[in-house]
Amino acid sequence: MSSQNQPNLRIPGPVPLPDDVLKLAGSQMINHRGPEYADMLDRMTRNLKTVFMTQNDVYFITSSGTGAMETAVVNTLSPGDKVLSIIIGAFGERFAEIAEAYRADVNRLSFDLGQAADLDKVRETLKGMSNVKAVIFTHNESSTGVSNPLEDLCKVIHEESDALILVDAVSSAGGVPIAVDAWGIDVVATASQKSWISPPGISMVTFSEEAWKAYGESTTPKYYLDIQQYEDYRKIGQPPFTPCLPAIFTLEFALQSMVDEGIENVFARHHEIAQHTRDGAKALGLELLPDPKFASNTVTAIKLPEGLDGKAFLAQVTKNYNVILGGGQKSLAGKIFRVGHMGWVEKSHIDEALKAAEETLKSMTS
Ligand code: PMP
Repeated sequence: MSSQNQPNLRIPGPVPLPDDVLKLAGSQMINHRGPEYADMLDRMTRNLKTVFMTQNDVYFITSSGTGAMETAVVNTLSPGDKVLSIIIGAFGERFAEIAEAYRADVNRLSFDLGQAADLDKVRETLKGMSNVKAVIFTHNESSTGVSNPLEDLCKVIHEESDALILVDAVSSAGGVPIAVDAWGIDVVATASQKSWISPPGISMVTFSEEAWKAYGESTTPKYYLDIQQYEDYRKIGQPPFTPCLPAIFTLEFALQSMVDEGIENVFARHHEIAQHTRDGAKALGLELLPDPKFASNTVTAIKLPEGLDGKAFLAQVTKNYNVILGGGQKSLAGKIFRVGHMGWVEKSHIDEALKAAEETLKSMTS
């Protein structure tokens, strides 16, 4: 990246793409209703199931990650359905807003920024509710760098309710293990521009048998995101609508590469680079925002010294070092910066980003 004078893009998605992937994204268009696409769709479907450790159906949708979240909502819920929305940051709030937009009865359970969901509180809340149709939450809260303990959360939800589990895994899937079948997750939503080393444009969902049952009962109006259309067309090896082909080309390549590398190795690589980032930040005397037990393996949120102009900090890092860091969102604006480390990332990318942060902080505080 830097060697070609490209900026070192260290935001939590879209992720930078290596040269071979960039070339692939620039490939000539194909007939999305022809045999070549059918072959690709078949391979992609199989490989995505492998990454998600699932026998459930999986679908590719031309949308960003929010479209996949909306797909989860419109296909399983009906107006008036009771939903428990567990919120640990900005994207959890977005999920709640989507469910509200479709007139679900949304009950929020919120936790402090930097914290994961507390399992006892989730248990207690579910005990106090009845007829919960779905529990919705973010796996990896990109705005705070916190990963919810997904397996344990699913266990508590299954123990205390018959609710569907709808998970926004936009910024975790592909970098962090998600055992859809073993953990009993009904819908998982993710998007191509994150750990999947692709441009934005394609989102992905898994869809369980229970989710299909809920689909049969759902009265929410839907068309573009109606999952039945994706299923009907999948059977004939086609997408229902014209897909974002550049992202399909790269996603097919990424999925095959992940399966060839071995998904445990992909996850181990993400863990290692995340630890390298956290260690590097701490070595600079900086404090991490998240509770260390739940620090994300795809994005690290680092506190800025009190009183420092966060906006000026980000601008100087970019101007002087050609490094693009993520800022804080909403109430965290100006208080933290974020380093993305999902997909294709080498230790040198992280070291360069942290060095830029260190030198900029020195110059701003001296
Ligand atoms: N959820 C999470 C956890 C995310 O990180 C993002 C994107 N940053 C989204 C949802 C929304 O995805 P998109 O911007 O692709 O719609």
